[in-house]
Amino acid sequence: MKSEKLQIAYIDGDGIGPEIITEARKVLTRMADIFGHQITFVPVLMGGASIDIHGEPLTEEAIRIARSADAVLLGAIGGDAMTSPWYQLPPQLRPEAGLLRLRKELGVFANLRPVFLYNELRKACPLKEEIIGDGFDMIIVRELTGGLYFGERQTIIENGVRKAVDTLVYDENEIRRVAQRSFLIAMDRKKELVSVDKANVLDSSRLWRTVVNEVAVDYPEVKLTHMLVDNCAMQLVMNPGQFDVILTENMFGDILSDEASVLSGSIGMLPSASLGSPAFAKTVSGEKSLHETSRSNAVFGLYEPCHGSAPDIAGLDIANPLAAILSAAMMLRYSFAMEAEATAIETAVGSVLRDGYRTKDIIDTDSGGKVTATGEMGSLVAARIALPQ
Ligand code: NAD
Repeated sequence: MKSEKLQIAYIDGDGIGPEIITEARKVLTRMADIFGHQITFVPVLMGGASIDIHGEPLTEEAIRIARSADAVLLGAIGGDAMTSPWYQLPPQLRPEAGLLRLRKELGVFANLRPVFLYNELRKACPLKEEIIGDGFDMIIVRELTGGLYFGERQTIIENGVRKAVDTLVYDENEIRRVAQRSFLIAMDRKKELVSVDKANVLDSSRLWRTVVNEVAVDYPEVKLTHMLVDNCAMQLVMNPGQFDVILTENMFGDILSDEASVLSGSIGMLPSASLGSPAFAKTVSGEKSLHETSRSNAVFGLYEPCHGSAPDIAGLDIANPLAAILSAAMMLRYSFAMEAEATAIETAVGSVLRDGYRTKDIIDTDSGGKVTATGEMGSLVAARIALPQ
């Protein structure tokens, strides 16, 4: 097995962030020992932790360090909006402004959320047993930097009537690059892609569908279908097992991925990846990868759990570190093209759950009532990482 050097920037952030990232680093370090890799971890300050020291949520130096790493691992940022002094600051100086700026600076336009149900957590899934069936394992790819959330908006008064306007804009290059990324992911999975839009009403969706069909020509092995977003919302809870990779635009993805995420049991279980330009796929309009990686099929990315900084449980050693640990596994898969290493971590997580270990948020009868602490959970996963047979 080839030994690799990995340079990982990590952002503890606020609240439970330092606790869960400590565990993710513990697991990555163990993985490196077992597989013979070398990891350099470089700390980066962001959010409230950066405000406390630098007076701003993300410094230019922090951006520089993050950009020069191979990948970035993030805990979570932010505090209690009612009590934290960070929220007395103007919006551009609050913790969340740091995260939005970082995503923009890193050029991460494809947000991936795996929706996977560990068999051991079936009781935590809100669906009926007969709908869960053999379980589900899908990835939702959400376009992250265009569409309604980034279009021009205004609120005006016209003829004495208040009126608000939001604009939903996509150009073909924005659609093409996220479509390419989704087809590449589908190629590594079951080769099935569902593109979700509202092409019966919206021009932006019609362009979306046209461009996705154009990209599909380059991936003839992938079976592409189109689904209207309202139907997709129903299908996710009626028959989630039918999906493998779902591709959709920003707002549809925001809503669908939150709907799908509850199917996995707990927010403490949900990892995510936000990916930038593939260094290996065709470049879009001459666009260069932000980060030239030496690994031919790897891509720069920001990896973080889906949950926030959970200030209500910070410092209590009860936070579930599995979403952060599974985010680290995604990092190995997408930014380092280390499938075996990623799978070793995911398998170790499954093994720990199978043996009944549960943090407080996923406690059930299988644990025999015993609650596993944050640090213990990370150690258990690390100890079970093994080379593939
Ligand atoms: P949250 O996700 O932090 O917490 C919601 C609930 O889930 C809380 O009860 C919390 O205790 C629980 N929870 C979350 N993660 C958990 C884990 N790993 N293990 C066990 N329980 C967990 O959402 P919130 O309370 O709405 O937000 C808190 C702060 O986090 C806010 O400042 C918010 O802006 C910020 N936030 C940050 C991010 C990010 O950094 N990407 C994302 C969402 C929210």
